[in-house]
Amino acid sequence: MKKAFIVLLALLACLLWGCGGSEESEAELSIPPLSTDGRTVIVLDAGHGFGDPGCSSEYMVGTEADVTIDMVMLLKNALIERGAEVVLTHDGEKYPSEQEIINLCAENGIDYREDLVTEDGVFSAYERGIYVLALSKDTEIDFFVSVHVNSFTDPSVDRYELYYCNKNPHTALLSGLCETLSARLDNATKTAALDYKDAYIVTKYGSYPSLLVETGYASNEQAAQKLNSPKWREEFCNILAEEIINAILKSPQEA
Ligand SMILES: [Zn+2]
Repeated sequence: MKKAFIVLLALLACLLWGCGGSEESEAELSIPPLSTDGRTVIVLDAGHGFGDPGCSSEYMVGTEADVTIDMVMLLKNALIERGAEVVLTHDGEKYPSEQEIINLCAENGIDYREDLVTEDGVFSAYERGIYVLALSKDTEIDFFVSVHVNSFTDPSVDRYELYYCNKNPHTALLSGLCETLSARLDNATKTAALDYKDAYIVTKYGSYPSLLVETGYASNEQAAQKLNSPKWREEFCNILAEEIINAILKSPQEA
């Protein structure tokens, strides 16, 4: 009886003052400083590949997986030229097996959720995200980018898109970076901080800034022509590299 009364009181208090105070605790989230070890380590993920070719179209040469691995290699060079160290989730030839990822998670005390792996034999978005999180326990990761190509039933849609998760502690850095990138890439770029439940899986993990880039729409003829051009790919990757490095350097460094 007494216990029931206490529960009732607690419930009332919850109703009156709100449970958890989640907004308050979010605001108090501390922003982990970047590059505290004097290194700038950036992880790149070419979206798709390995049983999952991603999107394709009559206009684009190759699949999304083909285009993104080429762009990731260009981005890697552009970042290394600017002093960063680059780690790839895969090199287009080989990717970490599920067992390797499970072992790495176990070594680093990360709960691996088999139920979130959508397909066997595919390097899924969840595996990519959790793999990078596991890597971050050994190496301080300063930025993570997943590179994609988009496609839509309406062929007139033509824009770049930049997405991040609103639960990332570096949302200020990410929104600033998206603004700069939007201005430099194209004024039709769409940037969005996605709510945790709607955010792309790869962008959900870790306390390092994570960004998903849709480099264009394969379903749009003009966009596909750009995506087919090695010169355009290089220009796009150079801008991306330059602004990512700028954003990291502008962020809070070691106190
Ligand atoms: Zn994709």
